[in-house]
Amino acid sequence: MAKSENYVYPVRNFRFLNGVKKIIISLFFTFLCYGVIQPISLLDWKKQENANFIIYYRHVIPESFISTLLSLSSVYYEIITDGIGYTYYNKHWIGDERCKIFLYKDKADFVNTGGGSYYSGGNADLINKVIRFYATSEELTKSVLPHEIAHLIFRDAVGLRLASWYVPLWLDEGVAQYFEDEIAKKSRNQILQSLVRTNRLMSWNDLMEGDAYSIAFYTQAASMIEFLIKKGGIEQFAMFCNKLKNGNYLDESVRFAYSGLGYSKAQDIYTDWVKSIKKKNIKKN
Ligand SMILES: [Zn+2]
Repeated sequence: MAKSENYVYPVRNFRFLNGVKKIIISLFFTFLCYGVIQPISLLDWKKQENANFIIYYRHVIPESFISTLLSLSSVYYEIITDGIGYTYYNKHWIGDERCKIFLYKDKADFVNTGGGSYYSGGNADLINKVIRFYATSEELTKSVLPHEIAHLIFRDAVGLRLASWYVPLWLDEGVAQYFEDEIAKKSRNQILQSLVRTNRLMSWNDLMEGDAYSIAFYTQAASMIEFLIKKGGIEQFAMFCNKLKNGNYLDESVRFAYSGLGYSKAQDIYTDWVKSIKKKNIKKN
């Protein structure tokens, strides 16, 4: 089995942390790992479905909760496909191609029978379009759900190449973080301001290496995606994704989609973004 057929995006859940530290870290920490997906028996699950999603859930979870989750998943699906300009192709999550969500009862169920990590709130299997969560996760509907749906949609849009000269981790995580809720966005802006003020912004090289344990990494990644989509427009971002999907390298894809902004390589996005946030920070002070 090829490496790309095994990879999963776990999402974070830092329940062992307290107070503000917990809130801030839980909003931003997530990491990429490679793991073998456990085979799933459908015998122990109930099911609700709509046009784009099938939710398999434990019998003890109330049906009303599942109905809400199902509707919310569809709302996020629309927001995210629209948000990255992937709507022209948005009828692909139908029939057998629908996203499958497995909702475990609680963390113990998720870890012990779902093979999830104790330190994550869920994970997404990109190849099989499967997301796994647990019902008692505090951040399920506002952060975990949009984050993981965004991972799946983005990888539909750019393809599954893992190497950083195609799609570096900051692009994946930036898109996923970008679609998290408003509270996450507010915290992101505060962290970003603090990074600028204290001269701790990550360099381009560090960003490309992808430090999966760094708040700065996730904050900058999300902010750069927001900057790129707002400055370049959704249509250009869709074009950029399409170039990557067609097998072009990162720099080539940037050059093709963003020559109008004067970018000839991916690092130019970073350079322009740094200028922009430093300018914003000066205005605030
Ligand atoms: Zn992620």
